[in-house]
Amino acid sequence: MKAIVYKGSNSVNCEYRKEPKINKSTDVIVKITLTGVCGTDLRIYSGNFPGAKDVVLGHEAIGNIEEIGKDVTTIKVGDRVVIDPTLFDGKCYYCQKGFHNLCDNKANTETGVDKDGTFAEYIVMPEDFVYLLPDTISDDRAVLIEPLTCVLNNLEALKLTFDDKLVILGGGPIGTLFAMVAEKMALKTVIVEKRPERLNFLRNILSNSEVVDANDKNYIDGIVKKFGRKPNAVVDATGCLFEEALELVDKGGRIVLMGFNSNYKATISPLYITNNAITIIGAGDYNNMFIRAIDMAENIDLEKLITHRFKLSEAEDAFKILVGEKNVSDKNEIMKVVFEM
Ligand SMILES: [Zn+2]
Repeated sequence: MKAIVYKGSNSVNCEYRKEPKINKSTDVIVKITLTGVCGTDLRIYSGNFPGAKDVVLGHEAIGNIEEIGKDVTTIKVGDRVVIDPTLFDGKCYYCQKGFHNLCDNKANTETGVDKDGTFAEYIVMPEDFVYLLPDTISDDRAVLIEPLTCVLNNLEALKLTFDDKLVILGGGPIGTLFAMVAEKMALKTVIVEKRPERLNFLRNILSNSEVVDANDKNYIDGIVKKFGRKPNAVVDATGCLFEEALELVDKGGRIVLMGFNSNYKATISPLYITNNAITIIGAGDYNNMFIRAIDMAENIDLEKLITHRFKLSEAEDAFKILVGEKNVSDKNEIMKVVFEM
């Protein structure tokens, strides 16, 4: 089968690999139909996140069940499923407490990081890590369910409610997804972004969020004016704007930190946090959220985030385009990129 293999910093190859086999009687084989590129794939590619050499990348995917182990009971051949890539062991201290997202033994089992992932024609998964998709959800929408679970996890950790005034810093795919959900819940939702093409894209797809240009030096004043006071809930969807988030958030407010950036360090005054009763939240990985994300997906136009599609065999070019080494043939802003088989 074709597979996109990580060969070390700034290098991926389309290679032919043996198709995976059922290892345990509770395994299933999924024939992938659509798989999305995540920021994590790009960070592995560019050497900013540790990925195993020769691993097949990718962890956001949907497909059809091709084969099942003899003890599989919940899924049958032909079923359309979404993959949960977080292979926790279910046995460690944290798993037994119900915190699968904090599993001690995820090392060597992270799909598309140190275990072969979804940028391939087939993948083998335990039965418990695939979820049946309803016919009412299109493939394009379903491939965004995994990122939606990440957003849902952070949204819940933030305890967003109807009277919150929310600001999201960063209008990439995750920040935008956050806005798509939050604008149905919060009193006011603002999303802040720098790239001009991205600002236009956001204005087109978000129906009930205000889009603010971060290039405007006084953008924070502008938001305060709009809200009547500072926002009481702030999301840093970039992983490098914690200081701005602290400056922005109201007294008694909450900040959720959900971007990934392993190089960023912030200088903060703990006393400022104490005096202003600010809550800083780290939500970790999602935990038991797939069924809920699938239910939610019925009501959110997730597919609007997809801007570019490539064949799996074109992945090498796609990665170059995504990290800016190569130009894309159209002028559309790149948001979510998916690979088709
Ligand atoms: Zn565990």
